[in-house]
Amino acid sequence: MTASAQIPGINSAPPDPERYREQMSTVCAALEAAMLSRDFTEFYRLFRSNDLPFMPAAYQQDATGLFHLCFEFLHRLGSVSPATALAIENHLYVTSAIATFPITDAALNRRRNALVDLIVQRRMLVANTNSKVHTDKLGDIGTRARRDLLGFRIRGKASYTSLSTQGDLLVFLTEIEGEGRALFALPMQKNPDIEIGAYLFPSAMLDSDTRQITFHDLVAPEESLLAGGRDQDIALLVSFEMVWHQLLIPSLYLGAAARAIEEARQFLCATRSRDDRPLAELDGMMIDIGRLVIEYRGACSAVWRAGEALGQVKCLPRDAALLEKAADLASAAKYIGARTAEAVVTAARRILGARCFSGGHPLERLSQEIMFASLGPEVSAVIERRAGRQALQQRSFLDSCW
Ligand SMILES: Cc1cc2nc3c(=O)[nH]c(=O)nc-3n(C[C@H](O)[C@H](O)[C@H](O)COP(=O)(O)OP(=O)(O)OC[C@H]3O[C@@H](n4cnc5c(N)ncnc54)[C@H](O)[C@@H]3O)c2cc1C
Repeated sequence: MTASAQIPGINSAPPDPERYREQMSTVCAALEAAMLSRDFTEFYRLFRSNDLPFMPAAYQQDATGLFHLCFEFLHRLGSVSPATALAIENHLYVTSAIATFPITDAALNRRRNALVDLIVQRRMLVANTNSKVHTDKLGDIGTRARRDLLGFRIRGKASYTSLSTQGDLLVFLTEIEGEGRALFALPMQKNPDIEIGAYLFPSAMLDSDTRQITFHDLVAPEESLLAGGRDQDIALLVSFEMVWHQLLIPSLYLGAAARAIEEARQFLCATRSRDDRPLAELDGMMIDIGRLVIEYRGACSAVWRAGEALGQVKCLPRDAALLEKAADLASAAKYIGARTAEAVVTAARRILGARCFSGGHPLERLSQEIMFASLGPEVSAVIERRAGRQALQQRSFLDSCW
């Protein structure tokens, strides 16, 4: 087995960043049009028909290169519609994690590659759920799998599935009774045993298409199990997926922050004060905008730094310590990226004032959606506790701060 332990998927087209960037422009223009018409049919048709959903297959050997492209794409989508960008993020993070997971185990590697090939061949979009449900106990999992003669039977309910009506394949985390966590992948539309239910948030983030999902004694064949059960590598795969998720979530919300700065710039350049000078020439305004730009760039740097750390993980389980390091950096990047994005949009809204909420101004939508940045995937208390616990070990923080 080579150090990177990866076999390129049979269907991966060679990476072509310039072609991807052209397609990003077309897809973002289609999203702008969809936001005006409130019809996403053409946006999803275009997205599915080009190479962007399948970049992960072309970058199986280069997680950092793939991260840079995903950052750029999600940042652009997030500048138009954070909720839609979140739906696309879910496809990209799951597909990227499966495509770049550098595991040495030959059987898991074969299953992983077969899944990537299937996604590319059938041009599938991937939705996911971690099976969390909102009950009176934090962390409750709402679904269970039981082994039987046909493979597995899956039952139960999950609160969150974004991209739920556009997704073709559902990658979901559940527990196999008597064994432990497991990751399955199954076709999700037109399956009477998978009920895609109501919006989880009846009036917020509608364009993320986040719905509750119920499994009615679903039969899952043995080959739909990607990892888990008696397999030791599930913890590594879940952790690797989480790093991808925590990197790509701030990417899209920082796109919303960049748009907010741009909206403030346009307003300040186009509006004159009572003494007839453009607001952009006021010293105080320059300082206010400068502060936002510095905070935005600092948060982007934290995300990029974590993206580079992910690329250092070349062979698992050998590089488990590097994965842990990447996970710490990604959760800090997500934390700081989400807070910064929310603070920048709030500050920009205060600069423009109430006109943000008139005439379909972009800051109205950004204001309503930016608050979701901090809410997941990891909740802030979990990130803060981990950082605090590490800092309070019996060694000087000066020796362990990086
Ligand atoms: C818009 C949106 C789309 C999503 N899409 C998907 C999706 O497609 N698939 C999917 O699987 N998931 C999805 N999620 C869920 C996401 O991955 C997280 O599971 C979710 O955001 C966690 O938030 P919660 O409020 O449900 O957490 P809960 O666990 O219910 O936590 C609620 C609150 O309890 C406190 N708390 C929780 N845990 C701790 C702790 N350990 N210590 C101290 N306090 C704690 C915190 O104050 C926290 O805010 C989505 C979430 C959002 C917001």
